[in-house]
Amino acid sequence: FISPAVCVREARLRLPVLAEEQGIMEAVRENSFVVLCGETGSGKTTQVPQFLYEAGYASGTGIIGVTEPRRVAAVSMSHRVAKEMNLSTRVVSYQIRYEGNVTSDTKIKFMTDGVLLKEIQKDFLLQRYSVIIIDEAHERSVYTDILIGLLSRIVPLRNKKGLPMKLIVMSATLRVEDFTENRKLFPNPPPVIKVEARQFPVSVHFNKRTPLEDYTGEVFHKTCKIHRMLPPGGILVFLTGQAEVHSVCRRLRRAFPFRKGNTEAATDTSDEMKKFKKAKHKRTSLPRIDLDNYSALPVDEGDEDRLAGIDDEEGSDLELGDDAADTEEKADPSLPLYVLPLYSLLAPEQQAKVFRPPPHGARLCVVATNVAETSLTIPGIKYVVDCGRVKKRFYDRVTGVSSFKVSWTSQASANQRAGRAGRTEPGHCYRLYSSAVFGDFSLFSEAEITRRPVEDLVLQMKDLNIDKVVNFPFPTTPSAEALVAAEQLLVSLGALEEPPRTGRVKEMERARLSCPISPLGRAMASFPVSPRYAKMLALGKQQDCLPYVIAVVAAMTVREIFEDLDRPAGSEDESSRLAQRRARLAQMRRLWAGQGASLLLGDLMVLLGAVGACEFAGCTLKFCEENGLRYKAMLEIRRLRGQLTNAVNSVCPEVGVFVDCKMAPPTESQVVCLRQIVLAGLGDHLARRVQQEELLDPKWRNGYKTPLLDEPVYIHPSSALFKTLPQFVVYQEVLETTKMYMRGVSAVEPEWVP
Ligand code: ADP
Ligand code: MG
Repeated sequence: FISPAVCVREARLRLPVLAEEQGIMEAVRENSFVVLCGETGSGKTTQVPQFLYEAGYASGTGIIGVTEPRRVAAVSMSHRVAKEMNLSTRVVSYQIRYEGNVTSDTKIKFMTDGVLLKEIQKDFLLQRYSVIIIDEAHERSVYTDILIGLLSRIVPLRNKKGLPMKLIVMSATLRVEDFTENRKLFPNPPPVIKVEARQFPVSVHFNKRTPLEDYTGEVFHKTCKIHRMLPPGGILVFLTGQAEVHSVCRRLRRAFPFRKGNTEAATDTSDEMKKFKKAKHKRTSLPRIDLDNYSALPVDEGDEDRLAGIDDEEGSDLELGDDAADTEEKADPSLPLYVLPLYSLLAPEQQAKVFRPPPHGARLCVVATNVAETSLTIPGIKYVVDCGRVKKRFYDRVTGVSSFKVSWTSQASANQRAGRAGRTEPGHCYRLYSSAVFGDFSLFSEAEITRRPVEDLVLQMKDLNIDKVVNFPFPTTPSAEALVAAEQLLVSLGALEEPPRTGRVKEMERARLSCPISPLGRAMASFPVSPRYAKMLALGKQQDCLPYVIAVVAAMTVREIFEDLDRPAGSEDESSRLAQRRARLAQMRRLWAGQGASLLLGDLMVLLGAVGACEFAGCTLKFCEENGLRYKAMLEIRRLRGQLTNAVNSVCPEVGVFVDCKMAPPTESQVVCLRQIVLAGLGDHLARRVQQEELLDPKWRNGYKTPLLDEPVYIHPSSALFKTLPQFVVYQEVLETTKMYMRGVSAVEPEWVP
């Protein structure tokens, strides 16, 4: 009999990072900043906090803080370290956004990076900590980047105050130059310690073909094949989101059920089924959405899980009965497979199962999202099945709104995934895409901060009282133009205080780039949409307009709500069907645009009318198809409306807005108010119709002049205002097709123009 404590101790001794303890601790003693690189599973996260603890870094007043970009890691690592150290969770604790077990005895605190950022807001010097470890820095989440930037300043300040503090940045892949070679961040490059991990060879097998549509089907079949034909060893499957994970888990469990007597697995399945039935049922009513599930800023981890449910609307897996489609494998109980899901938002007890050995005689198969790439190391994996994709947040530079999309992952991340197969013995990685496709992957995933517009980020940083965002030492800096433009926009929206007017141009320039946040800005910062739309929400209280503003903002942030009926038709039949549907949509758009005063809200009235009508009809696929609306877009608008309603209520509880699915159209005076609110948000997108006497060039006929463009822009023939051609309009965006067309146009009264 070997006690569990002995097992843990022996496993610990095999970790590569243990061999480096002395070097690591020396470096930490002699430097304020240290970068530590090592393969996933080499023991960084679990061991380094223990080294620090043993060396006395938590014996004074300060404690050891560890940040993780993902909640899963914060929770599970705190438990693991407590167990390894034989200490209670009162001492080794965690804090994630809404929960935690931190006590006054806590000495090692695992937390999400967002939690530490909030703490910096309360105590800039972080005096409670003697060391901060920023873990998983390779993920380059916006919060991690901002934390490293902040700590590069906080640590020297602490040293100056005679309260020394250390920063350790830990990373899995070896691309740390963004930190070490960045003089603005660290004037003296910090030492980099590399932990050499023992890694067994992994044979990589590429697919000949790359399935573009049904890659989850391909994943399922490949996993079945491995299980049937290959020698023992755990299988780790990489998918992109929670819904996919559940669907593949269910199919695998059906194909390789346990024999009677394995109660654990049996309850597991039925529990999951119950949850799914519930989820499916829930989707028919307007969901109450957690404020944190959607944000213009990457609030924290778990992104890949968040569109679960809605996302899978078309994945008919959910609807598959037991008489499943013929692509399913025939159930084979002689080959039990112990199938476990793993994703960020999974309950911790469920997550912990992946670390335990599978039931005797069964093979372990973990179906995971990106969390298994670097955050968690699952023991005993010999086979990896990689779909090659990842679900990521994308930011629309035009609308400023984020969306989740599945795209190819990077080469570095595909290699990380493959590496999971060679931790305990030589392994195999099956990539469900061709080597040519792999060759086209980017080498590394880009730092999130460079892929997005920054006005929302700047607003969030100002909300953290970082006034001079331009001087901020980002590991990867957004472009200067992007920062300046963001600041100007925020001043014009009233989110930042006007810069003081001084005589000197230079001083003014500088002041313009360090405007402090205003009370309005604080309110705007709490809405999960881009600042232009946040401004509209902040103004929405007038004349009971909020429900309309919320609906319009939700509709404007979803890219395209109408179906593309101008697509080329494959046959004559289809062509006439399309023509019919186009006529129907045109008719509906006229109806939704309303009459009289409503007409002047223009395309935004059409959006409002469409959302109202669709909700009134229960937001069904049938209604959308009959009326030329994109069903997915309408579902997303529904989610957003719920969420924005929650957000508004939490900022101003006295308004008590709710989502009304039988919303009456706005009154005439409400329409006027809505137009003014829209102007307040889109004020920098104002356009003036070109006057008769200015018509030097025929191309300006019916054209509009905007401050930023030299060329005229036009109202599109499909716009509700095409025939009206008001003197002044605001627009949502300009899209260049055959001409430069404004989209989302709304009329502005000349006397409102500043
Ligand atoms: P790194 O941070 O370098 O990726 P970790 O410290 O997370 O490495 O992991 C070191 C080892 O500890 C891994 O082999 C992993 O399997 C094991 N481990 C981590 N957490 C647990 C846990 N909760 N239960 C069992 N083993 C664990
Ligand atoms: Mg780790």
